[in-house]
Amino acid sequence: MIYVTKSTLPEFEEYVEEIRDIWESHRLTNMGPKHESLRNMLGEVLGAPYLELAVNGHMAIELALKALDLSGEIITTPFTFASTTHAIVRSGLTPVFCDIDPSTCTIDPQKIEALITKETTAILAVHVYGRICQVEELEKIAQKHGLKVIYDAAHAVGETYLGKGIASYGDASAYSFHATKVFHTVEGGAVSCRDKKTAEKLYALKNFGMNPDGEVGDIGMNSKMSEFHAAMGLCNLRHLKEMIQERKKRVELYQENLKDCPGIEILPDQKHVVSNYAYFPIFIHKEEIGMDRDQVCALLYENGFFARKYFYPLTSEFPCYQGKFPIQETPIAHERSIQVMTLPLYPDLEEENIMEICRILKSLGK
Ligand SMILES: *Cc1c(COP(=O)(O)O)cnc(C)c1O
Repeated sequence: MIYVTKSTLPEFEEYVEEIRDIWESHRLTNMGPKHESLRNMLGEVLGAPYLELAVNGHMAIELALKALDLSGEIITTPFTFASTTHAIVRSGLTPVFCDIDPSTCTIDPQKIEALITKETTAILAVHVYGRICQVEELEKIAQKHGLKVIYDAAHAVGETYLGKGIASYGDASAYSFHATKVFHTVEGGAVSCRDKKTAEKLYALKNFGMNPDGEVGDIGMNSKMSEFHAAMGLCNLRHLKEMIQERKKRVELYQENLKDCPGIEILPDQKHVVSNYAYFPIFIHKEEIGMDRDQVCALLYENGFFARKYFYPLTSEFPCYQGKFPIQETPIAHERSIQVMTLPLYPDLEEENIMEICRILKSLGK
């Protein structure tokens, strides 16, 4: 069975070598030397003025929301992983769902202003599949209405837009370093931000609200990354470029084979974006091939390929939210969620598997 993803691992010896000093120092966690060097190196990759590591990507989003001291309503996208919306709701904030641009699946800036009320304090957008949001448009709207902009950049680690690291955009961005992501620390995450004050707040919040003097000035949490996780990150970071290059080759093979395939839509490459090739989503047009997305998924499964319905359903359609707050209609996001599936993609996925998946997809409707 070929799964949608397979976690990358460094050579066993490389990791063992990396954790050797931990036995000498006995520093296992609490912002030790591995943590600090990973933080510095990642800060450069992401182009982050300030960066704080966290225990995972979900807590990174919650940390960002808390550090920016938000209240009321947050305009966001329902075309995302559960974590984005859960982070808003778990922080005592109300999500307001905005529709997406079908060509990128990111939040549609043209639909945001109609959703702004006196309660709105921020926009939480997602660089979904590593597709960069319309950052300039979002910035303009935010400036005009005095809102903060936060990006869920879980999919965008290693990317640049207009030659700048993705941390250059927004008031804060949250990253996931989960095992399934392009860059991982097994479990892990980070938040980048623009100013020192927010960075200090993030540092305290992830450590029970304690500032460096030990004073508890905030109601914090425990969201610290351990030295073992940071060590995995240091190893994986050495190979990140090469891993992205391997992904790129595989994405190009998919693109070449599926570009004129009736009923299968692929997203165009984005201008000015250096991609990390995190995911390869395709969109099934039932009217052209007489099969819907679920049937195409089932067919691939019968042939040993596990494609994922990522993101289906929309987070706004989750049973846990029904009746809790008003839920806005987002017809484009809904349609995309019915059409989409992500194909297997990881650095050592065999070319013959890609060719077989493409052969199956090309035979549909014939
Ligand atoms: C993976 C992911 C998260 C959560 O990250 P974890 O590290 O798994 O907690 C949040 N948002 C999106 C879009 C994700 O894909």
